[in-house]
Amino acid sequence: MQRLEIAIAGCGPAGLAAALLLHRDGHRVTLFDRFEAPRPVGSGLMIQPTGLAVLGQLGLAEALLDHGARIARLHGEAGSSGRVVLAVRYAALGKRAGFGVGVHRATLFALLHGAVTGERIAIETGCAVTGSALLGNGRRRLLLDGGRSEGPFDLVVDALGTRTPLAPPCGRALAYGALWGTLDWPADGGFDPAALEQRYRRASVMVGVLPIGRPPGEERAQAAFFWSLRADRLEAWKAAGLAAWKAEVRTLWPATEPLLDQIESPDQLTFARYAHRTLPQPAEPGLIHLGDAWHSASPQLGQGANMALLDAYALALALRKAADVPAALAGTIARRRGHVRLYQALTALFTPVYQSDSRALPFLRDRLVGPLSKLWPATLIQAAMVSGTIGHPLRRLGLEPLGD
Ligand SMILES: Cc1cc2nc3c(=O)[nH]c(=O)nc-3n(C[C@H](O)[C@H](O)[C@H](O)COP(=O)(O)OP(=O)(O)OC[C@H]3O[C@@H](n4cnc5c(N)ncnc54)[C@H](O)[C@@H]3O)c2cc1C
Repeated sequence: MQRLEIAIAGCGPAGLAAALLLHRDGHRVTLFDRFEAPRPVGSGLMIQPTGLAVLGQLGLAEALLDHGARIARLHGEAGSSGRVVLAVRYAALGKRAGFGVGVHRATLFALLHGAVTGERIAIETGCAVTGSALLGNGRRRLLLDGGRSEGPFDLVVDALGTRTPLAPPCGRALAYGALWGTLDWPADGGFDPAALEQRYRRASVMVGVLPIGRPPGEERAQAAFFWSLRADRLEAWKAAGLAAWKAEVRTLWPATEPLLDQIESPDQLTFARYAHRTLPQPAEPGLIHLGDAWHSASPQLGQGANMALLDAYALALALRKAADVPAALAGTIARRRGHVRLYQALTALFTPVYQSDSRALPFLRDRLVGPLSKLWPATLIQAAMVSGTIGHPLRRLGLEPLGD
């Protein structure tokens, strides 16, 4: 296709990856974000073999592995009983797709943003996007706060995340979110540096530790530490004070002591609330929604950033192959819709098992699903589910998982 003028709204994983891919394909790309200066946001996340395959295409996989932590398994125990209720090993998938990578969000951001600035792709900061306007010729203007506007563009890519103003509201906020903190990795704490470990009390309490390697500029290895909490109990949590909370965590999982020792103020923990939403129409004339702007869910299955990277790759591929913008948008959706639907459904199914007020679901999880999940073929299905590879999303994009 001819060289297009493309506005990408949002500098998260979806927007930055799309900018790199589309710029390398010869399009004229401008990124817009409301931040004034690039900044690391949030704590840890898991890059799955799906996301890693896209980062491999971008030439960033090695750097991610250098700064992240290879994750071989996910392990969860029901706190008081010590019953193993989550035991997923990537190795069940064989050598390919055989690991995930725990990273600080700042690491992923720094690698993508560094590549974008290295290739001199324009980034307009301090631009809060408020909407877009379709022009008669199928092109669009991007509307910014303060009555400003930019464009026209042949294509506007909405990568503004779950609260995008470029799409109509849909979906629902979930009752549970989590407090997240980034702490020094407790080297002698008995935690497995290659595992995401969690402890549960019923489904209403979950505490987790994820190794996230060394973000650029950090000397010490770090851990993401999270504690699930109902959004409507956040104020009560603050009022009760750190000491009461630490006592609760310690009771559930005594080994977290060296992590708890590092938390001196509630400000070290950030509350993240989740929403479950999928846009019924991910594209309109001259506009496509990618990543969380298209679909977002609880991070229970750890897929969001990976799905965002896959969406970006699908758009670049479709633009290469299609004759015009409408055909490219249809092609992007055709390549991604099945996988998006599948994982949105799987996440909706599994989230209440780990984060809800239900008593029946965790009862079944602990006594039935947990033990059964250690047997073949459940071992294989779980590993495929966590790795993001159910539904063959990579094959649909002509990609392969990176091998060892
Ligand atoms: C606590 C937590 C843990 C998670 N763990 C995982 C995990 O383990 N694995 C995983 O794959 N995913 C995880 N996710 C999900 C993952 O972070 C998201 O799916 C991913 O960041 C989506 O990328 P995105 O680029 O679509 O949007 P975002 O990362 O949300 O980026 C949106 C960008 O748009 C900008 N923006 C927003 N609104 C405006 C506006 N109006 N004007 C201008 N700019 C704007 C923002 O500043 C931001 O830069 C987690 C999410 C949370 C909250």
